[in-house]
Amino acid sequence: MPIHERLENVYAEVLARNPGEVEFHQAVREVLESISPAVGKHPQYADAKIISRICEPERQIIFRVPWEDDNGEIHINRGFRMEFNSALGPYKGGLRFHPSVYLGIVKFLGFEQIFKNALTGLPIGGGKGGSDFDPKGKSDREIMRFCQSFMTELQRHIGEYTDVPAGDIGVGSREIGYLFGQYKRITNRYESGVLTGKGLIYGGAQVRTEATGYGTAYFVNEMLAARGEDFAGKTAVVSGSGNVAIYAIEKTHQLGGRVVACSDSTGYIVDEKGIDLELLKDIKEVRRERLSSYAETVSNARYVEGAQVWDVPCDVAMPSATQNEITGKEAERLIRNGCTVVAEGANMPTTPEAVQLFQDAGVAFGPGKAANAGGVATSALEMQQNASRDSWTFEYSEDRLEEIMRGIHTRCRETAEEYGMPGNYVAGANIAAYTRVADAMLSLGLI
Ligand code: NDP
Repeated sequence: MPIHERLENVYAEVLARNPGEVEFHQAVREVLESISPAVGKHPQYADAKIISRICEPERQIIFRVPWEDDNGEIHINRGFRMEFNSALGPYKGGLRFHPSVYLGIVKFLGFEQIFKNALTGLPIGGGKGGSDFDPKGKSDREIMRFCQSFMTELQRHIGEYTDVPAGDIGVGSREIGYLFGQYKRITNRYESGVLTGKGLIYGGAQVRTEATGYGTAYFVNEMLAARGEDFAGKTAVVSGSGNVAIYAIEKTHQLGGRVVACSDSTGYIVDEKGIDLELLKDIKEVRRERLSSYAETVSNARYVEGAQVWDVPCDVAMPSATQNEITGKEAERLIRNGCTVVAEGANMPTTPEAVQLFQDAGVAFGPGKAANAGGVATSALEMQQNASRDSWTFEYSEDRLEEIMRGIHTRCRETAEEYGMPGNYVAGANIAAYTRVADAMLSLGLI
């Protein structure tokens, strides 16, 4: 889809101002293309330069993170926090610890987060952060020292009414614990609402761990229902075997589907009987081992090293590892193998070329900002519980999550129809989210 002529200069400005940040360019381009049909209907947004303002982060924080390893050697990493847009509420979005992290990745994630958070209907703005620190192979004490050093600077910039980070790749409940401990120690405040994804014993919320994966599976369930189908008898493939992947598998099984393959950064496993989730959790969450251990334990399973999981035929695909893992080649393979529904558990795992191929082939495609919004939505519920010093049951929290995912699906579908693109979840998600943020920005004056 071409970019509307009134938005072309916005994209040119983003390229000029953010050289070399290709992931950010990709994310902006997708949004500009899909909100183009809304330009004529809302000239007031263009007059107020709303989209140009959205593309420029409100605040960008880059800092040094020095830490010492177990041998006494000093290392220096770089920390980031992108406070992108706070029109709807405090900045909200995760922290990613991975060697690939640089400004362009954090900006793309922060930009996406604005729209994702708006889609939930909850009062949260968009932000993201992280570091190029590689947690792999580090001891527990090294992870703790790194988190403490990271928070020593980050604490100046965050707060329950300002900016509320959470986890992402490489940042799970262990890291959130160390980060929260250091925040509490430096500020002398037990400010539970400053971080989400906390452990249940110190202010965490039920279902937060499961939320992104569960939410993605709920979203697929709605996409299937919109086609007059359900999960029963369907096979699914999930990439990754981290937080999102594991719980996407769990909920898919509960909803009647069968996940036959998943992956990690070394390869993938296929288990036609359906992935044994207890074993997978033990390998990845407890023992923190490679996925090859699965095939060593389950006789009918096979492990394929160094290849993409998208070779495995399936009805439903849920990419839940990292960005740009489904290119045109993988999309063609999935289509050829009969896949009819794709929903992004990860952020931007599908390239624009692959999205186009899916849409042309009539494959229902749910973008991450809709399909994986269950995580941040449940983080907002954690903030609500912290603010009222309350804690809800698992069942109640899960009902809220399911209701939110259904709401997001309806919002995407109805908006796509309203703008003459029925079934186009990308356009529906972007336009619905954009108009919500734009209306809030118009109300707040020139900020
Ligand atoms: P985890 O770190 O828990 O898991 C990531 C998984 O993806 C691991 O299995 C990892 O393999 C694999 N992986 C990471 N990088 C690569 C790569 N370059 N190539 C192949 N495999 C890779 O992260 P999460 O599950 O939390 O996040 C996954 C995705 O979901 C990310 O895009 C994240 O932004 C997105 N997301 C996460 C949310 C959350 O609540 N956690 C919320 C919304 C989106 P290995 O085990 O070998 O490292």
